[in-house]
Amino acid sequence: MSHAWFFNIPTHGHINPTLPLVRELVRQGDEVTYFAGPRFEEKIRATGAAYGDYGDAYAFEQSRTVAHSVLQGSQLAEAATAILPGVLAKIEKERPDYLLFDMSAPWGSIAAQRYKIPAVASFPHLPFNWRAFISDSRLLKKGYQSLRPGHGYYRALQRQTGKLAKEQKLRKPSEINELSSSAELNIVFSSRYFQPFEENFDDSYLYIGPVINTNRPDEALQIEREPGQKLIYIAVGTLYQANVTFFQHCLQAFDYERYAVIMSVGKAVDPADLGPIPANFTVAQFVPQLAILDEADLFITHGGMNSINEAVMALVPMIGVPNTIEQSVNAFRVEQLHGGLYLEPQKLTAEKLQTAAEQVLADLQVPPGLAKIRQSFLDAGGVPTAVAAIRTFKQAHGIA
Ligand code: UDP
Repeated sequence: MSHAWFFNIPTHGHINPTLPLVRELVRQGDEVTYFAGPRFEEKIRATGAAYGDYGDAYAFEQSRTVAHSVLQGSQLAEAATAILPGVLAKIEKERPDYLLFDMSAPWGSIAAQRYKIPAVASFPHLPFNWRAFISDSRLLKKGYQSLRPGHGYYRALQRQTGKLAKEQKLRKPSEINELSSSAELNIVFSSRYFQPFEENFDDSYLYIGPVINTNRPDEALQIEREPGQKLIYIAVGTLYQANVTFFQHCLQAFDYERYAVIMSVGKAVDPADLGPIPANFTVAQFVPQLAILDEADLFITHGGMNSINEAVMALVPMIGVPNTIEQSVNAFRVEQLHGGLYLEPQKLTAEKLQTAAEQVLADLQVPPGLAKIRQSFLDAGGVPTAVAAIRTFKQAHGIA
């Protein structure tokens, strides 16, 4: 029996897709210790894995909403600096047979390099490749706009990773990939068809399709609409600081005659701060997204990976209004594959939203476009494909 350690960050989006995989590894006889924040202990234990505690070296919980993905990268470098000594000391003593780590947990990658432990990385977001990214001028332009406010953070992040590499005696700072850590085997919760520039990702990247968490304690929401009204669902995920102006544009864009709208504004926005709410809008800080997507005609989304996957599986056309570089890439790809449209957040107006909604709802290329992405997700093989690849990887390393 082999012993694996999984290092993750304490966010639902990064942990949820991995839980069925961990449950299956445990079922097949692996002993897994899964490190994440205490909020996730119960969920982790429910898979049969042991809960690993990072201790209190880093206050993850204080950085739960972030203004920018590069700032998040910078927080992760800080987290790595704080928790590595504890993690390395534990590994030195207990020597797990192999490691699994999330793309955003650079301490997993560093520990694997330091102790030459075979490792598997988990990618709940699409892996990122600068060379590929800059080869497409359209994507570069869109992505650059979301990166621009992050330049200051990015310099700080580079300083931090440089210092960390020196402390950990890694050959060069680039061994800590600042925005996504990879390993010998990389499990991506999407499909090759959805991955832009997929030719830049070799066979070490195994695309298994999304794993959607359907086991949610969501409260039911009564969905009301008049006959003939289309249902629009608007949501921006759970992590980024929300932008009140964005929601105000939405409130102006969609009239009563044609649309019923459910708008999830996130915990950072008080619906009372949005001004008068039209009668055809239901506004809340959190709503049961999967149940709403089952009925929605259109989804206006920030472009988070989980939201995109969930909408594709429910065949709901999208308008992506991204905030970060990975959301830009996702929304760009949705548009490219005829799943909907991309709108630039900096230039957003109520009129643009209204026109885009009409366009997407009338576009005959969208239903087959979405169906094709969905089929690529289903064909990717899911958890059994990942488990088989991990078995082969273990055999190659002589791990029982
Ligand atoms: N979500 C939800 N209700 C809401 C807002 C979000 O259930 O009102 C869920 C959504 O279904 C998805 C997750 O929260 O599974 C958001 O993940 P995503 O990757 O889209 O965005 P992030 O929160 O990581 O930015």
